[in-house]
Amino acid sequence: HAAKETGEPYRHWSPALDERAGEHARLGAEMRAALLAGDFRVVYQPIVAMPEGRVTAVEALVRWQHPQRGLISPAQFVPVAERNGLIVDLGAWILRTACEQLVAWRAALGPDAPDRVSVNVSARQLARPQFPATVADILISTGLPARCLTVEVTETAVFGGGQAVTALHALRALGVRIALDDFGTGHSSLGLLHTVPVDVLKVDKSFVDRVTEAGRHAVIARALIQVSDGLGLTAVAEGVETREQVEALYALGYRLLQGYHFGRPEAAPDFRPRVHAVEA
Ligand code: C2E
Ligand code: MG
Ligand code: MG
Ligand code: MG
Repeated sequence: HAAKETGEPYRHWSPALDERAGEHARLGAEMRAALLAGDFRVVYQPIVAMPEGRVTAVEALVRWQHPQRGLISPAQFVPVAERNGLIVDLGAWILRTACEQLVAWRAALGPDAPDRVSVNVSARQLARPQFPATVADILISTGLPARCLTVEVTETAVFGGGQAVTALHALRALGVRIALDDFGTGHSSLGLLHTVPVDVLKVDKSFVDRVTEAGRHAVIARALIQVSDGLGLTAVAEGVETREQVEALYALGYRLLQGYHFGRPEAAPDFRPRVHAVEA
């Protein structure tokens, strides 16, 4: 995971690392200006309910349309924004943009609109005591019902201590859903799962990639859906790319799937939340 690699602290000086630190400093300096200039975009990827193939939700994913460097991936700039603190303002902008977009889809498409939008929230956003109030503010000012918003957080952010769990309880009290992103790749113990307010487990792509193979990876995908069902949670399989994976996941009991097989993240004007005809 690139975000984790670039999140490593620089322990030793070396020309290569120094260059990378300089690159981060440059990117960081340009980011605030980019936010003001409107150079960030939010794209949306469908989350599909099986077997009917309805797009029940979309995940909002940020992009940076840099005037010189072209499109920059969030794996490159989100870790930088987390370190220089811009993720707080950028994250609030992403949240507001995504909520406004779902309000617009609900007005335009009625019952064909997705039920929910899922927004990624970084550890640094979650750690701020003001975060739940910011979310409440955005819901009120956009008019999006709280039940239509899911917040995606990583295991590391949730189990990293501090007051993340308090924030999650406050979000839950508003009616917002909580999803654990990249589930299975963090360092948390399964035994801690029932101690945190969580509604959705997003089973990481690394398990989906090999769900069609015999052996360890299929076993883990099977175990994770059992944990999810057993705790009364909702499982979403991430990074589904092939029809074979769809069939294997469905056979294991997965009913919510996301990945290039169903659709890539797309800009809102091009995107029509649509009913996919999918056989399982
Ligand atoms: P994530 O939240 O786990 O998002 C899923 C990533 O997997 C997205 O990459 C998505 O485009 C990609 N993906 C989806 N389906 C497939 C597939 O079938 N195959 C493959 N190869 N990839 C697939 P993206 O948009 O580049 O985002 C990468 C990560 O950056 C996200 O992982 C998330 O951790 C972070 N990120 C993205 N947008 C935001 C944001 O608005 N706020 C924050 N805090 N982080 C964000
Ligand atoms: Mg996510
Ligand atoms: Mg994910
Ligand atoms: Mg992932």
